[in-house]
Amino acid sequence: MEAPIAIVRGEGTLLFDENGKAYIDAIASWWVNLHGHAHPYIARKISEQMQTLEHAIFSGFTHEPAVRLAERLLEFFPALDKVFYSDDGSTSVEVALKMAFQYWHNKGEPRTKIIAFENAYHGDTFGSMSVGARNVFSNAFDEMLFDVIHIPVPVAGKEQESIQKMNEALEQNCAAFIFEPLVQGAGGMIMYESHLLDDLIQLAKSKNVITIADEVMTGFGRTGQLFATDHCENKPDIICLSKGLTGGFLPLGATICSAEIHSAFLTSDKTKTFFHGHSYTANPIACSAALASLDLFEKEKTMERVAALSLLMQKAKTRFEKHPAVKEARSLGTIFAIEIKTREETEYLNPLAEKVHAFFIERGIILRPLGNILYVLPPYCITENELEKVMNAIEDFLSKLATNINR
Ligand code: PMP
Repeated sequence: MEAPIAIVRGEGTLLFDENGKAYIDAIASWWVNLHGHAHPYIARKISEQMQTLEHAIFSGFTHEPAVRLAERLLEFFPALDKVFYSDDGSTSVEVALKMAFQYWHNKGEPRTKIIAFENAYHGDTFGSMSVGARNVFSNAFDEMLFDVIHIPVPVAGKEQESIQKMNEALEQNCAAFIFEPLVQGAGGMIMYESHLLDDLIQLAKSKNVITIADEVMTGFGRTGQLFATDHCENKPDIICLSKGLTGGFLPLGATICSAEIHSAFLTSDKTKTFFHGHSYTANPIACSAALASLDLFEKEKTMERVAALSLLMQKAKTRFEKHPAVKEARSLGTIFAIEIKTREETEYLNPLAEKVHAFFIERGIILRPLGNILYVLPPYCITENELEKVMNAIEDFLSKLATNINR
């Protein structure tokens, strides 16, 4: 295994190693970075916050950054009512699942099943692993994970099966349906259409099953809209946010729920309390990073950049979809992915991944494929030149592969 590369500095789309070599961060450091590394505005806001209040217990106490952030987040989701803070993407999902189970428990109608998509990824803690796919990530723990009804993702050709399996699942005692809206990230940048998600959400709602959108990856512009569920008519009851929430500066999770969900916890009966709290819940520095990131969406017209980048990603799809080394090219908003033809199965441990990583690192580009699925998911500040450099390097890599395949 290669030794990790020591990064000492970041600026815009670039990360610099200890020898001064620059790398284009074409995967936004695991999908978190939106406005560029070490963005001076977010850095300044964080610095100001930490000189005033670095942290305070968030039980029985509150503070302005947390309240302001909750107010601003709720403006995006008119159907939702309350924000619950946690630490990262996985914990935002844990909170959503616990909220859903306890909602039914508190109402005196316990429901114990969850519906999730096959091939899903929702995090690395036990609850979030349980609702994820059973695969190499979960193997060692499969017996300890709770029972989940997995239904097919409604990708092209599976639409009817997905609906049918959803209807069957809804016959059981289901508390919630959790999904990555429109694109399954770690599962291989698998994309599906919003009207199909709309249908599934509607079916779940018709049985009063709580719908949970895991927007940890898709939130804050990734799919071309501010949130992936903005593409849908039917709105979820709970939304999980993290990653881009702080612009990629600090870990923070938020689980946002409807007034109906919240109402099941609003009672003088202490046994119905939502007993979930992390030491750093609503950390003011993290909240101030998130507020600064939201400011930048206005100041720097980030959604205009998102629109321009989305067009470039569509062009990339057209450029590569007919390539002889490519099985399929996909794009949605600022995400571009290609499935490379290989002799092995399409899966995370595909040996191609290491070759890809090394090839691009040498050229000063950070790409970290999911098995044989190569994707570009950059900070929105990436320049056309930088993106062209990434795409040309992909072209070189594919040409080499095609030569090998044809040999
Ligand atoms: N949900 C989704 C959709 C994700 O993509 C991820 C992380 N890749 C998570 C949850 C978990 O987030 P974290 O790594 O911050 O725990």
